[in-house]
Amino acid sequence: MEKRIDIVGIGPGRPAGMTLEAKEALERADVIVGYTGYIRLLEQRFLEKELLDTPMRGERERCRMCFARAQAGKRVALVCSGDPGIYGLASLMYEMGREYRDVSLSVVPGVTAASSGAAVLGAPLNHDFCTVSLSDLLTPWETIERRLKAAAEGDFVIVLYNPASHKRKGHLARACDILLQYLEEERPCGYVENIGREGERAVTCTLRELKEAQANMFTTVYIGNRDSFLAEGKLITKRGYQLEGNTDLCGNHGGTGAL
Ligand code: SAH
Repeated sequence: MEKRIDIVGIGPGRPAGMTLEAKEALERADVIVGYTGYIRLLEQRFLEKELLDTPMRGERERCRMCFARAQAGKRVALVCSGDPGIYGLASLMYEMGREYRDVSLSVVPGVTAASSGAAVLGAPLNHDFCTVSLSDLLTPWETIERRLKAAAEGDFVIVLYNPASHKRKGHLARACDILLQYLEEERPCGYVENIGREGERAVTCTLRELKEAQANMFTTVYIGNRDSFLAEGKLITKRGYQLEGNTDLCGNHGGTGAL
């Protein structure tokens, strides 16, 4: 029998935010493995399954658990929030998978926080953007800093993942300080907490105000590019379309471009 693990992205949180493919992968599984918080989100819907959870920092243990269950003949689904290939466990599974040649892996994509949060804020990612994680648990802070600078210089819309955790409180302010060396204080920004979950909250602000914001581990942050603007509580990045009778709206590289 084929030994197989699906690495499944469950989207931002609410059941309707999960793709049909992800739902089918979970339905097919004998065992669902994941971080305690995500297993709780699923529990009610998959009561008949074997559900294995591990706390936040138990990533390696969680992956080993998947291979052990697959080798025992179970069909396994490893759940990750959002997309498993975006700051998720997909790559660690492939790295470990080299030791388990008899187990085949497949990735089921999900809606990542950048895009589900963008939908709440309006249309902030409607041009070139990049994502930077502020977590220095696995990445040296110097690397993070270098990427922030490059993103600002490249005029990308920037999405920040992992802006804070229990241990890392000042990272968002530090990141804003770096960006403020390149971008104006009034640069339109926004952030969304608990996307697709209870307590969802979106805020728009300037880069100066973002520096003072209290982010937590369920916050995704957006820094606009030079063509982004704020209007009625939404953060929008222009694509460059020319609108009839309003030449000012396009190719305006003068800053926040209020409507
Ligand atoms: N694989 C996930 C990202 C995991 S990294 C994905 O594709 O979305 C964890 C970070 O993702 C969090 O610190 C936060 O910045 C962001 N994030 C994930 N889910 C979120 C949610 N429901 N609401 C807000 N931010 C979220």
